[in-house]
Amino acid sequence: MSGKLFDRVALIGIGLIGSSLARVLRRDCPETRIVACARSAETLDAVRRLDLADETTDDPAAAADGADLVVLATPLSAYREIAMRIAPSLRPGAIVTDVGSVKEQVIRDVKPLMPEGVHFVPGHPVAGTEHSGPESGFAELFRDRWCILTPLPETDPEAVAKVVALWELAGMRITKMAADHHDKVLAVTSHLPHLIAYTIVGTATDLADDLKSEVIAFSAGGFRDFTRIAASDPVMWRDIFLANREAVLEIVQRFTEDLTALQRAIRWGEAETLETRFRETRAIRRSIIEAKQA
Ligand code: NAP
Repeated sequence: MSGKLFDRVALIGIGLIGSSLARVLRRDCPETRIVACARSAETLDAVRRLDLADETTDDPAAAADGADLVVLATPLSAYREIAMRIAPSLRPGAIVTDVGSVKEQVIRDVKPLMPEGVHFVPGHPVAGTEHSGPESGFAELFRDRWCILTPLPETDPEAVAKVVALWELAGMRITKMAADHHDKVLAVTSHLPHLIAYTIVGTATDLADDLKSEVIAFSAGGFRDFTRIAASDPVMWRDIFLANREAVLEIVQRFTEDLTALQRAIRWGEAETLETRFRETRAIRRSIIEAKQA
């Protein structure tokens, strides 16, 4: 699909995700006017240099003024204040969507602030890298990845369809689910792995200097793969853990129990238990490759 899905799109937050979406719009909807909003002059300079937007501003209200689509793409902790600031300038019929990695908290923060006649369509393009900022974005980031929308029962179906069309343009596969279900699924597939990576790399950080240099030299043994995940943006991940507290704590509890079971199997030399578990996990890897999500 190409052409003019939206006349004026406000991207509030233009880092990895916002700038990747800007690149998709530039490529497929050249007539759409893009307004980019960020806090720092440095980010806005980069946006102009990369020609990612027609207008730039540090004022979310000015960005949202007259937009038919507003995309919230800042760290989660900024959403509430941004929603408060843009509310008075949103025009009737405007669609507000977001890309946040946690959905229940976003709905709690944003939905009550949306004026009558404005459609809020919460969403999460499940695609990313460990890099941040407008330079790190690319249009192909979203291709063949899943975008999860968590519309509320009262959300206007036409507004949802337009957000679906936007992410389809980016090459995404779309699915819809309840926000609490999204948060539980992502706690397992994304939040727990990040917490484990931050822990493992943190443990290495605390090692004695001689051991630390060897850990870095021999990192190809597995450690290296965790360092990539643990290099993800600290502010973004701080916000994700605080916003998805309950689901994360529940899955960490399950993980701790399973870890203890493996610890016990090692202690008591239970070879079969270990091998059976490792065979099961290898099968999961195969199904991810078959689903083209590797
Ligand atoms: P990012 O690269 O760090 O970019 C964040 C952007 O938000 C920057 O342009 C930043 O501007 C701006 N910003 C921060 N606070 C702001 C405020 N108060 N007002 C206006 N702009 C503000 O982040 P990202 O990786 O694109 O992530 C953005 C969102 O996408 C997060 O909610 C995250 O949960 C979600 N997400 C991320 C990934 C991923 O893998 N990265 C994947 C899916 C979803 P300055 O540079 O001026 O501070």
